[in-house]
Amino acid sequence: MHQPVTVVTGGSRGIGAAICERLAADGHDIVVGYRSDDSSAETVASAVRAAGRRCLTVRLSTADENDVDRLFDLAAQHLGVVTGLVNNAGISGPNGRLADADAEGMRQALEVNVLGYLLCARRAVRDMSRTGGGAIVNISSAAATIGSPGQYVHYAAAKAAVDAMTVGLSKEVATDGIRVNCVAPGTIWTEFHADPERPAKVAANIPMGRAGRPEEIAGAVSWLLSDDAAYATGATLRVAGGM
Ligand code: NAP
Repeated sequence: MHQPVTVVTGGSRGIGAAICERLAADGHDIVVGYRSDDSSAETVASAVRAAGRRCLTVRLSTADENDVDRLFDLAAQHLGVVTGLVNNAGISGPNGRLADADAEGMRQALEVNVLGYLLCARRAVRDMSRTGGGAIVNISSAAATIGSPGQYVHYAAAKAAVDAMTVGLSKEVATDGIRVNCVAPGTIWTEFHADPERPAKVAANIPMGRAGRPEEIAGAVSWLLSDDAAYATGATLRVAGGM
């Protein structure tokens, strides 16, 4: 059994930061992947170390193949065998009706939200199939099944691709000892939203009457990475207040 070492992309803020802190409390060493905000990444790293776990921060774009290889190379070099990946780094891209969305904005969003997940998962399964297996959790969205009309149909489509990738890859690598699951959050209080007050504004449409907190996603991710979920693969766990 290896010490759990988990790569969390987009680990510097929001849901990813909460995942890093929860996993550290549950005994994982952590690699925080992030795009640009060094100081937020260092704040998360300090929290992980305060929990008694090792932490490495790596600045990268998950949409860049060479960056993704550098992330996993550094992880192995500094922390040893990587046992977990949380594919979490995502962006909303253009907000509004599809008729008004610019192609370049959608291209950038699709590259992070779909290609980035595929590149990180590809490298993870290459490594894990040699090192005794592991677990991947993809952060999707309730948007994948709702479709987000008038808001970001391209983003919802990207998250549906994440759900499909989870199903296909879980079957492809099941006999390599690698589990692949998905968590689909509803609206969560983070800086993700173009309108920062959106979580409050949509609360009335959520059966539980409120948006969620990042920590409420982190617990689901930790469970899916744990041995308690040893027989779960290809699953999408919706954590969306009833949406
Ligand atoms: P967030 O607060 O905006 O944080 C995004 C994180 O991703 C940051 O750490 C950011 O790094 C990083 N990032 C963005 N682009 C990147 C790239 N190309 N390469 C590497 N890192 C990158 O977002 P969040 O709300 O926590 O969302 C996390 C995930 O949950 C996303 O996949 C999102 O689609 C999904 N989700 C969110 C909600 C919600 O309501 N918030 C609902 C459903 C699903 P920097 O800070 O350095 O830029």
